[in-house]
Amino acid sequence: MALANGTSTIAIDRGEQKLRTLIDPFHRAITYLRVSVTDRCDFRCVYCMAEHMTFLPKREILSLEELDRLCSAFVAKGVTKLRLTGGEPLVRRNIMTLVSSLSRHLTSGALKELTLTTNGSQLQKYASELKANGINRINVSLDTLDADKFSAITRWGDLNKVIAGIDAAQAAGLQIKINTVALKGVNEEEIASLLEWAHARGMDLTVIEVMPLGDVDESRIDQYLPVSVVRARLAERYTLEETDYLTGGPARYVRVKETGGRLGFITPLTHNFCESCNRIRITCTGTLYMCLGQNDDADLRSPLRASESDDLLYAAIDEAITRKPKGHDFVIDRHHQRPALPRHMSMTGG
Ligand code: SAM
Ligand code: SF4
Repeated sequence: MALANGTSTIAIDRGEQKLRTLIDPFHRAITYLRVSVTDRCDFRCVYCMAEHMTFLPKREILSLEELDRLCSAFVAKGVTKLRLTGGEPLVRRNIMTLVSSLSRHLTSGALKELTLTTNGSQLQKYASELKANGINRINVSLDTLDADKFSAITRWGDLNKVIAGIDAAQAAGLQIKINTVALKGVNEEEIASLLEWAHARGMDLTVIEVMPLGDVDESRIDQYLPVSVVRARLAERYTLEETDYLTGGPARYVRVKETGGRLGFITPLTHNFCESCNRIRITCTGTLYMCLGQNDDADLRSPLRASESDDLLYAAIDEAITRKPKGHDFVIDRHHQRPALPRHMSMTGG
């Protein structure tokens, strides 16, 4: 059915259910929702947050029931992959209530995947419960295996806890992908050993470029290491074989012949991944961002709270998707010292 502004929703057959799919003005099907369930975190990673952050007042934050309703509205509109993120999703109180209630969409078949991105600090506590609720794969962010460097990068984190969390997650049967942010002069010499470590444990590794989101205490120029440089250096040591492996996310993967493991690259700055973007993000206040790299947003909390029926919410979602832009315009160079966007990654989630 055609809507205003060239956007359309189409009904497609998914097994027994006729579900609608959100299609944006550039004919991209929107099937992947990332939900930041809290802006708070038990770490203060130098590229993500300033040391002294002001967090949102509790009243602005959607309750777990409201988050469930919001996510479920997107599932009804054809979202098939849902990622919980943050802030640190596992520090939100009673988060397992949300995970457990959302898992009904896995049971019904409407959702193909429920997953999360975590810093790993709480995994020891939650790994088994995550697995029991139908979560099969998770992303764990880890930028170094050196305990001192880890403390310097995360300011408040404890590497031992994260490693124990990864052990627990693997013991529970969760597949793990490690996400590493490439940081100039910090972990650039360590990417090869992280890769060897991850692959030896049967985990994929994805290397991510620093994105200019929010004011942090350091200059982005000092942090920024192009992933193309990381890749070229790894290619001197390893045989990187092209693959067509896709996860529905923005990473491009190669197989490392020597380790047999997969290596992903996320290059928002050096390579434009927008043309196949199927993603949208909501914050813990119910603000929908149609693009991680643009300011335009849509308030979904008001329609959510205005009525018990979901009609207003559906209308707001349809309207927002008509505004999904073609792409982002991140730049980090000497002429762009200010953040490209004022909000931190912890608002919109990674
Ligand atoms: N706390 C969880 C974690 O660290 O995995 C989930 C939220 S965190 C914002 C999600 C991902 O975003 C992490 O992998 C983190 O390394 C990454 N990230 C945060 N700030 C970033 C930035 N400015 N540029 C690139 N990646 C960033
Ligand atoms: Fe917290 Fe994740 Fe941001 Fe680090 S990257 S401060 S763990 S939200």
